Amino acid sequence: MHIAIVGAGIVGVTTAYELTCDGHEVSVFEQRSAAAEESSFANAGLSSPALLIPLAAPGIGGPQSNRLWGRHAAVRLAKGVTASELRWLWRWRKAGRSPALPMALSALEQLGRYSQARMRWVSEQLQVDAETGRGALVLLRTVEDLAHVQPALQLLREAGMAIHDVDAETARQIEPGLSPDTPLIGALHIPDGESGNCRLFAQMLRYAAQERGAQFHFNAQVTGLDAAPAGLRIAGETLPRRFDAVVVCAGVAAAALLRPLGAELPMAALHGYSISAPVREDSHAPQGSVVDPLHRVTITRQGQRVRIAGGTELGRGDGAHHAPTLQTLYQAISGWFPGGVQVSSGQVQVWRGARPTLPDGAPIVGPSGLPGVWVNAGHGGCGYAFASGSARALADLMAQRAPEVDLQHFALRRF
Ligand SMILES: Cc1cc2nc3c(=O)[nH]c(=O)nc-3n(C[C@H](O)[C@H](O)[C@H](O)COP(=O)(O)OP(=O)(O)OC[C@H]3O[C@@H](n4cnc5c(N)ncnc54)[C@H](O)[C@@H]3O)c2cc1C
Repeated sequence: MHIAIVGAGIVGVTTAYELTCDGHEVSVFEQRSAAAEESSFANAGLSSPALLIPLAAPGIGGPQSNRLWGRHAAVRLAKGVTASELRWLWRWRKAGRSPALPMALSALEQLGRYSQARMRWVSEQLQVDAETGRGALVLLRTVEDLAHVQPALQLLREAGMAIHDVDAETARQIEPGLSPDTPLIGALHIPDGESGNCRLFAQMLRYAAQERGAQFHFNAQVTGLDAAPAGLRIAGETLPRRFDAVVVCAGVAAAALLRPLGAELPMAALHGYSISAPVREDSHAPQGSVVDPLHRVTITRQGQRVRIAGGTELGRGDGAHHAPTLQTLYQAISGWFPGGVQVSSGQVQVWRGARPTLPDGAPIVGPSGLPGVWVNAGHGGCGYAFASGSARALADLMAQRAPEVDLQHFALRRF
């Protein structure tokens, strides 16, 4: 088939790669001038276990997730928050209390596990390494911190993931840079945890897809989609382009693209921040990934840099970065790993990005309900963790093969 993909974020690029592997002729249309310039640009890059990524799903985050105001609010309401975003938040919080939550989290856990295996397999085949960091530690200051991750922990353990309860001393042996002064009652150690550089992985897969014949059209903004026959319109072109199928991988913009065709995606952009800074002293810097569940902060090692990510804002904001959130991130790195990172160097990169999130925290992977139009979008806080798996599963579905992971929970018709 001749297939068009809208968007060259991590989801679009992995989808392009998998579809070219199946022998399809693939054309990717991206409004920006390179791959992974939007949500996939500087995320924390935790890829496993997905369920331990802060805000991975409603119901994860513990009792504090009820707070809306203040520095430690689970979701901060930024300037310009709309009535429809507030309705979205109500649905998100309702999903977190739903009796169906365990089933929903289980579907996400399965997608995460499948995706991790696929990402490793693809990386091995292509012999690429996107600054992979191994091992993850969830730091516990108090016993209550466990409550933040409890629903996820139980599921991960039931699925066979090794999660060791370790005391503070062992945690400091695993991460020798951890401050001896920051109170710690213990940690959860996940030896098979993994992180990487999402943007780098997207760029590597872009070239791999291109070598297999995919064509990437940058600075090409898709202004509309057509179904039956499938096609799309590009800004500045008079005639629509026709394809056998179109896959919408447009992140937060997916909802606006699909709405004129009658498909409603209740998508919200949950903004967050990351700070990336060079390692100052290797033995003082994190070696793998560290999750601070109290402040919902993730710290990952990305080659010779360290990335600290967190914060969740609903609303477009006023254009300025939220200083208290950035302060929390700076405090997290200097509190946990003093002297490990050069936070005052000129090479510090501060980023605000959006998590394209649906109210139940799960992505849409499958048909749109319109002939020839498919969707792979809404991966929320887990786009890097879920991208390889959802791309492979979607490619199988499009080839009328049964995907190796159950996609029922990720159908658009659930809304
Ligand atoms: C602070 C923060 C931390 C995070 N941490 C993690 C983490 O640890 N692990 C994890 O797995 N995920 C994490 N995420 C989430 C992850 O970044 C996203 O889920 C993921 O990047 C979404 O990828 P995407 O390809 O769907 O969207 P995007 O990367 O935004 O890609 C969509 C692309 O579509 C293009 N596009 C949109 N509209 C059009 C149009 N009309 N025409 C042409 N092109 C168009 C856009 O330009 C964009 O390039 C984090 C996110 C944030 C903000």
